[in-house]
Amino acid sequence: MAGTSFDIAVIGGGIAGLTAAHHAALAGVSVGHFIADGMPGGLVINVGALDGWPAAGAVGGAELAAGLLGRNEELGVSLVPSRIDSIEGGASKLLSGPDGAWRAKQVIVATGASLRTLAAPGAEQLAGRGVSQCAWCDGGLYRDADVVVAGGGDSALSEAIHLAEFARSITIVTRGEMFRARRSYVSRVADDERFKLRWSSEIVEVLGDEGVEGVRVRDNEAGSEEILSCSGLFVFVGLAPNAALLPANVSRDDQGFVVTDANFETGAPGVFAIGAVRSGYGGRLTQVVSEATTAAERAAASCEE
Ligand SMILES: Cc1cc2nc3c(=O)[nH]c(=O)nc-3n(C[C@H](O)[C@H](O)[C@H](O)COP(=O)(O)OP(=O)(O)OC[C@H]3O[C@@H](n4cnc5c(N)ncnc54)[C@H](O)[C@@H]3O)c2cc1C
Repeated sequence: MAGTSFDIAVIGGGIAGLTAAHHAALAGVSVGHFIADGMPGGLVINVGALDGWPAAGAVGGAELAAGLLGRNEELGVSLVPSRIDSIEGGASKLLSGPDGAWRAKQVIVATGASLRTLAAPGAEQLAGRGVSQCAWCDGGLYRDADVVVAGGGDSALSEAIHLAEFARSITIVTRGEMFRARRSYVSRVADDERFKLRWSSEIVEVLGDEGVEGVRVRDNEAGSEEILSCSGLFVFVGLAPNAALLPANVSRDDQGFVVTDANFETGAPGVFAIGAVRSGYGGRLTQVVSEATTAAERAAASCEE
């Protein structure tokens, strides 16, 4: 299918991309949806029950993504199982990746973000051997165990709460002096004495040979260090945008997230950016839907101008 031209190309198979492809198809234009490795879902692929998603019952990320993908196929969206590495050109944009090149009049970039890893010594060596970034995948391995969660935002707390289904104690280590998370998560953590909190602190070393045996934590306010014994470390210390495919002259903020106008159009005309790759994105799936709808309708209208 390489070489095909589309009215709109949507890049990224997370909830933002799936929703944008959906609304673009509803507008009656031809849509190519580029999903790296053909695997939809993005950051929520392993989340078993999404919070804040308006549905009659609990919905998991994989289930939501599969449902959107199926509906998009019915609407005539062309699924292209390829990564895109660069976007170039003016009125007709050239999209290139390892599997070929395609053209599109308008492009919606929904490439999201990747979980940041911990820079502390030991973290990389013990990844997959006690250091994890998915409580829904690995939480069951820590029944009656002591675990540590690094981070203080929504994803850290929601994953910590999921770990409480298994673990004996969950110590949350955060650089901040308070959480930056949904009030319901904060209350849940405050109400359960198995959660222990280390404010203004960071993990400076992950200890262990074959598996995690503990972490060294520095209290940045007191200037002291302590070793916490644990067998699992779950890391949710922020997101890094997947924005390398955009031209260098498209503005980014100081963290590398893509700057857009109110219609989610970047500095490159006809190239939109939505969801977790975008500067100012609020981090909730409901916001993704709103951004995707606006960008898709704006891009579809531009195809006809
Ligand atoms: C652990 C966790 C739990 C969460 N739980 C909730 C929740 O319960 N409720 C809620 O509202 N929000 C939740 N969130 C936040 C939510 O996941 C994100 O806000 C949302 O998924 C962002 O969607 P996105 O499509 O913009 O990006 P992503 O989900 O990051 O999807 C981007 C996709 O693009 C792909 N991609 C990247 N680069 C390329 C490329 N060059 N070419 C092609 N494809 C590419 C990626 O592989 C990925 O599949 C959670 C986040 C985390 C980390």
